[in-house]
Amino acid sequence: MEKRQELYAGKAKSVYLTDDEDLVILSFRDDTSAFDGEKVEQLSRKGEVNNKFNAFIMEYLQQAGIPTHFEKLLNANEALVKNMEMMPVECVIRNVAAGSLCRRLGVEDGMELNPPLFEFFLKNDALHDPMINEYHIETFGWASAESVAKMKELTFKINDLLSKLFADAGMILVDYKLEFGLFKGEVVLGDEFSPDGCRLWDAETRKKLDKDRFRQGLGGVIEAYEEVAKRIGVPL
Ligand code: UDP
Repeated sequence: MEKRQELYAGKAKSVYLTDDEDLVILSFRDDTSAFDGEKVEQLSRKGEVNNKFNAFIMEYLQQAGIPTHFEKLLNANEALVKNMEMMPVECVIRNVAAGSLCRRLGVEDGMELNPPLFEFFLKNDALHDPMINEYHIETFGWASAESVAKMKELTFKINDLLSKLFADAGMILVDYKLEFGLFKGEVVLGDEFSPDGCRLWDAETRKKLDKDRFRQGLGGVIEAYEEVAKRIGVPL
C-alpha cells in the first residue's frame, strides 16, 4: 500500500490518499486545539497516544458489532481507515452534565443525567459548532433521515459499551463526541475516539483525565491520557 498526497489537514489529524481509493491514512499529529482552534499547542507524544488509544477503542467497538472505519495501525502515528464521505454533524452523548451544557442551561456541573442526553452539533468552526436538531439536518441535507436514526442508534450502543469499559477501569465516561460517515451506503463510525473528544473522570476523586486539562490549563495532559490508556489496557 502506497501513501500518496495529503487530502485534508484538520486541527489534530491529517488525511492522506493511498493507491487504493477505498482507503486513506489518518495521521495523528501532536497539535492540540481548543475553543474552535483559538488555543493551539504542540503536546509531545499526543499523536502517538491518541492513535494507539483510538485503534484500541475502534477494534473493541468493531468486535462488539459496531461498524467502524478502522482497518489497521500502520505505525506510531498513523492508521489505515476506510475512505468515507463524512456527514458534517457531531453526535454528543452526555451521562453527566459538564461543559457547554452547563453554560447553556445553567445546570450544575457533575449532575447525573438519567436518561443520558443526546445532542447534534453542526461541524463548523467559523460558526462555533452550533447545536442543531434532526429537522436542520434533514432540511439542509446534511444527512438522510435513515442516517440520522442510525447515528443515534449506534451512538447509544457505543455509550453502553464504553461506559462499562471505563467504569470497569475506575472511570466515569461523562460525555463524548462521535462523527459518522457513509461507506458504500452504510453508516460507519469515523474520526477518532480518544481523550481529546470525550470527558473522563476518575470515579473516586473525580480528577479530570481528558482534554479539559488542556482547555483549563491544568497541566499533565498527556500523562492523564496515558493513565487512562494504561487502566483500560491500551498497549502504548
Ligand atoms: N467535543 C469535541 N469536539 C467539539 C466539541 C465537543 O470533541 O468540537 C467533545 C468534548 O470533548 C466533550 C463533548 O464533546 O467530551 C461535549 O462537549 P461540549 O458540548 O460540552 O463542549 P465544550 O465544553 O467542550 O466546548
